[in-house]
Amino acid sequence: MEQITKKAYAKINLVLDVTGRLPNGYHEVSMVMQNVGIHDTLTFTKREDEQIVLTTNDGQLPLGEDNLIYKAVLLLRELTGNKDGVTIHLEKRIPVAAGMAGGSTDAAATLLGVNELLGLGLQKEQLQEESVRIGADVPYCVLGKTAHAQGIGEKLTEVASPPQAYLVVAKPDINVSTPVVYRALDSLPSYPHPDVEGMIHALEQKDLNALCERLGNVLELVTAKEYPVIGQIEDILLKEGARAALMSGSGPSVFGIFDTKEQAQTACKALEKAALAKQLFVTTFENGEG
Ligand code: ATP
Repeated sequence: MEQITKKAYAKINLVLDVTGRLPNGYHEVSMVMQNVGIHDTLTFTKREDEQIVLTTNDGQLPLGEDNLIYKAVLLLRELTGNKDGVTIHLEKRIPVAAGMAGGSTDAAATLLGVNELLGLGLQKEQLQEESVRIGADVPYCVLGKTAHAQGIGEKLTEVASPPQAYLVVAKPDINVSTPVVYRALDSLPSYPHPDVEGMIHALEQKDLNALCERLGNVLELVTAKEYPVIGQIEDILLKEGARAALMSGSGPSVFGIFDTKEQAQTACKALEKAALAKQLFVTTFENGEG
């Protein structure tokens, strides 16, 4: 096979708790990660030479070693010694720097896609293990199934996937710095912790009510305080019938959970009218391949 195409799905956090801090400055987390239907598409093509050539429809992204896709190919080269060239085209749809693991999911798709294209023979489990060297969210993206993530995000336990629902995802036009968000959280004397175990139980029960009651993200405390637009988007989502709304990751993306597609579409229109978001999506939980 000379060419392979893979979808790279975005994630949201159904719960995100920060449970400690390691001596190296990394934060220990406990979070439930869930793919959603918003995806990038990556096309991998064999080359005659040894070059790694990256192209994309997104004019802003770096195309060299700063791109996580490039880092993923370098990791495969290190693991196998194989230096066959590859051209990778990225069709970007996932909002960038949004708390939706856009770069990490592209890296995961590259590990899986190039492994397959070049017949490198690496097992998915090994790719998952090694991929933390690219970023803390990459192992989850390699797994591609609902998971409880601990450690810095790399210790994964599969959990039950959520029942069907419709989502509105809104990315406001602001840039949030993840290190600044974590520093602001560190400066708080204490904060309420979300019920991660309760969320896992709600998933096992396929109980959408309980799931919505347990949505929580400690980082929202600090990001939403700094950027009122996050609360404003959530207010509109709730007013339009969302069962619950929450910020994903360190933000600024916000999602709302709806029973029907019609409700989600109506809420999306209301947000469009309010002009609070730069990018808007109606989607669902994605429980298939990663
Ligand atoms: P996370 O949820 O894991 O914190 P994020 O959604 O906040 O991730 P990304 O979209 O992964 O953030 O992008 C963060 C930065 O990484 C961007 O500023 C971008 O320049 C860089 N980056 C490198 N490679 C990629 C890629 N393939 N896609 C998106 N961003 C990339």
